Amino acid sequence: MSNNGNASSTQVQEFEYKAEMKQLLDLIVHSLYTHPEIFLRELVSNASDALSKIRFNSLTDQDMLDRDAELSIRISVDAKELTMVIEDSGIGMTEEELIANLGTVAKSGTLGFMQTLKDQQKELDGNLIGQFGVGFYSVFMVTDEVTVETRSSAPGSQGYRWVSKGEGTYTIEKIDKASRGTRISFKLKEESKEFAEEYRVEQIVKKYSNFVDFPIYLDNRQVNTVTALWQRSKNELKDEEVHEFYKFIAGDYQDPLDYLQVSVEGMVTFKALLFIPKEAPMELLYRQGELENRGPQLYVKKVMIQHECRELLPEYLRFIAGVVDTEDLSLNVSREVVQSSPVMSKIRQILTGKILGWFETLAKEQPEKFRTFYKAFGPIIKIGLNTDFTNRDKLIGLLRFESTKTGADEYVTLKEYTERMGEDQKEIYYHSGASRAQLLAHPNLEYFQDMGIEVLLLTDPVDVFVIPSLFEYDKKPLKSIEKADIDFSKQKKDKPEPLSGNLLDPVMKIFRETLADQVEDVIESHRLVNSPVTLVSGKDGLDSQMEKMMKMMNSELPAGKKILEVNTSHPIIRNIAGMVMANENNPLIRTSIKQLYEGALLLEGSLDSTTAFISRMNDLIEAATLAR
Ligand code: ADP
Repeated sequence: MSNNGNASSTQVQEFEYKAEMKQLLDLIVHSLYTHPEIFLRELVSNASDALSKIRFNSLTDQDMLDRDAELSIRISVDAKELTMVIEDSGIGMTEEELIANLGTVAKSGTLGFMQTLKDQQKELDGNLIGQFGVGFYSVFMVTDEVTVETRSSAPGSQGYRWVSKGEGTYTIEKIDKASRGTRISFKLKEESKEFAEEYRVEQIVKKYSNFVDFPIYLDNRQVNTVTALWQRSKNELKDEEVHEFYKFIAGDYQDPLDYLQVSVEGMVTFKALLFIPKEAPMELLYRQGELENRGPQLYVKKVMIQHECRELLPEYLRFIAGVVDTEDLSLNVSREVVQSSPVMSKIRQILTGKILGWFETLAKEQPEKFRTFYKAFGPIIKIGLNTDFTNRDKLIGLLRFESTKTGADEYVTLKEYTERMGEDQKEIYYHSGASRAQLLAHPNLEYFQDMGIEVLLLTDPVDVFVIPSLFEYDKKPLKSIEKADIDFSKQKKDKPEPLSGNLLDPVMKIFRETLADQVEDVIESHRLVNSPVTLVSGKDGLDSQMEKMMKMMNSELPAGKKILEVNTSHPIIRNIAGMVMANENNPLIRTSIKQLYEGALLLEGSLDSTTAFISRMNDLIEAATLAR
């Protein structure tokens, strides 16, 4: 006879984690070593979310369980037994929700994303875990087994107990639970016993969860200060406190780069506290399109309505974190209303203006900070050039470029460029490619360097999509130096004499014949100084960098034909002319021409196979060494 009296009335069901979940747990348990304390931040944050949801529902729902229960989080620890309990009076979970929320990975791609990070850094930083939507499982850093007891706020709900060792399986059974909410309990591993000490827990709560919007009791004593920081006036804010608040709401472990307090009264009334992070968040770099689901938090009369409200800012500004609190929406506003409300579009319009003004002020008053900002978020705000036409001029004013007249990591604005360009220069020149070094080494730049004409060096992949669409600045067209139709009539006087007439024509003819299938045309160059040939694009041709990007997106895209420009004062070309005079069937002529062409391709990073190039190079070296 068993002494477990209710064994027959309770049925324990065992479930197996999905394969992806198992791997994820394995990663967490075996790879997360740094900052184990963040498990508490994650559990408190989940409790706080559950409380926010119930507070929101209670605005409209009369029938929920324990409608008048205090909204709070209770933590208790036992230093002797090494046990910890975290309990909330939040929304709770039904059996289906338990299985869906604690048995599967919510965000797709999470596993691959974490694996990549692990491969890169060797050690996964626990600090990062909140970003992956798997915060709950960080508890397995400090314990071998977790019990979750929960009861949903839905009327007539049933209590459930979920138990797991974080390995292959978990169990669920029905239990009697008197009140709504969730209770999480576990015994700490010996090596994690510090977390059973009251002072240590208090320290962690203060560090990470001080701004949780509900009272947190530690062994019946409240340990956080519940304040709506954004409601204070600017001179009541202390940097340190504001920074802590940022870390809390943004889940960042670094201080923000800068913050802005906004208070608007008039057509709409709202207060906001906004932040620029120091770095672009990981997911922004790793997952494209993720910006779509970001945005500041929306509060109505100090009650949180939406965690990440996309309607508050245009997409290209959604890296801005913070809180926006308005009096002009009703508390029980639905998601649909938020989306279509004129109040929201007014708020968005005002915020966008304030934020762009903030960037401008930073650029003027704190150029160092602005540079850090621009490096991290420049590529994102450029998206706005093609989407936000109302603020286009402001955005253009924010653009910064490296150029042939700046150092690496130094910037020039379009305004500065046009102010310092020569009187007879009619166009703004740019050159796009993968890196500054590659761009500077390109033959197409020779004329401009020689004449002292500034060229913008575009190395951000976004540039080739946005810069050409600017068309002009201050009535001066923006022009890629790769284009064939640039006015090179102004030349230095001491240039060596080019080939002409009956010496040149047969050379050009052989070039054209030899490369007939590869290029659109072969023409005499006026831009080259030190190089024998270069590739340029015709009037309607794509920039080579643009073409590369398009190819990356659609590999079927046929490569457009370029124009080969030949430097007719270059010794190689003069020598070829000599060989043509002597014997135009000399095979070395065609070999040299092909080699010059492929060399130009190689410089652009567009040479697909180097096999023929190398074997031709060997032939030429053989010929050269034989001649000695
Ligand atoms: P995230 O919080 O990022 O979604 P977690 O792994 O921390 O990821 O939690 C998974 C889900 O489990 C949550 O989204 C929530 O639906 C549910 N959950 C976790 N803790 C609680 C709780 N205390 N009360 C209600 N639901 C919870």
